[in-house]
Amino acid sequence: MKSYDAVVIGGGPAGVTAAMYLARSGCSVLLPERLTSGGQLLQTEALENYPGFPKGIKGYELADLFTEHLEGLTVDRPAIVVESITGSAGQFTVHTDDEDYLCKTVLVCSGAKHRTLGLEGEEKLRGRGLSYCALCDGNFYRNQTVAVAGGGNAALEESLYLSKIVGKIHLIHRRDSFRGLKVYEDRLESMPEKVNIMRSSVITKLHGNDALTGLTVKNLQTGHEELLPVDGLFVYVGFAPVTNFLPQGIELDEQGFIVTDTEMRTNIPGIFAAGDIRSKLCRQVITAAGDGATAAQAAFVFLEQLHA
Ligand SMILES: Cc1cc2nc3c(=O)[nH]c(=O)nc-3n(C[C@H](O)[C@H](O)[C@H](O)COP(=O)(O)OP(=O)(O)OC[C@H]3O[C@@H](n4cnc5c(N)ncnc54)[C@H](O)[C@@H]3O)c2cc1C
Repeated sequence: MKSYDAVVIGGGPAGVTAAMYLARSGCSVLLPERLTSGGQLLQTEALENYPGFPKGIKGYELADLFTEHLEGLTVDRPAIVVESITGSAGQFTVHTDDEDYLCKTVLVCSGAKHRTLGLEGEEKLRGRGLSYCALCDGNFYRNQTVAVAGGGNAALEESLYLSKIVGKIHLIHRRDSFRGLKVYEDRLESMPEKVNIMRSSVITKLHGNDALTGLTVKNLQTGHEELLPVDGLFVYVGFAPVTNFLPQGIELDEQGFIVTDTEMRTNIPGIFAAGDIRSKLCRQVITAAGDGATAAQAAFVFLEQLHA
């Protein structure tokens, strides 16, 4: 069985950064990635908020630049899926859909996935009017009309964020009451000229071929359907961490994200977590990369202590 100092699971911004820092510290690193490196960057049309690129950068271009940084370093990057982790500090086995690997420390950087509405055309319109991140894409809709789908804190918080940017928001929620903080709901209700709250309503159709032009919205109480012209739709119907391979006993928060301390240590010695998989407030490329660097440094200290 091949053996490494560290296995970094997931080749998104957190994993690539962690692998780069560990390799530059002289560690041997395996970076298993189920697809190609880049993670959610590959689903991102363009980023306007990553420092160093004031004119913005395409998601796939930034993904390529991140990956280029690994060239010449001691990082093996097989396209495999991690299925489970067994063992304990200093002697972990990472089981994959191909080989198994031995390692002393594991860094979990497997990210998260946005739940979708499940409507026809959703995949095609992603990045063309349909977004899952107001912080990322809100600025593209300055003074325009957008809809927000969802009824939890994410939908309410992002609606408040968008209310300072866009011209008009239709907030569409399938239930008759919200699941988020009342204070957010009250704030949104206090600006009816800007925010049209549509309770007990669902989106049944997305309109537009090359870009989103509108939505069909159905009122579940009356059965009435209407066509809503919009420039953008922000979907917040859930964000799920990718944790199916984690060992039993790792501490998760109530949404299933991994709990760490500020050095990215989990409750299991020798296992670190970084990026969107972590329980935290801000899930962005820059915070994922920052977590990756911190996790790598903490893992390096852990490896030094093992050898002491
Ligand atoms: C549409 C969209 C637009 C966005 N826009 C912006 C933006 O403008 N600015 C910004 O800063 N952020 C943006 N984000 C958020 C940003 O992309 C994420 O915060 C960031 O990618 C998180 O990085 P990560 O490495 O933690 O996880 P991810 O990017 O999710 O990467 C995790 C990787 O792990 C791999 N993986 C998972 N499980 C396994 C396994 N078992 N075995 C092997 N590999 C596995 C996955 O395939 C994936 O490649 C956007 C996200 C989306 C979806």
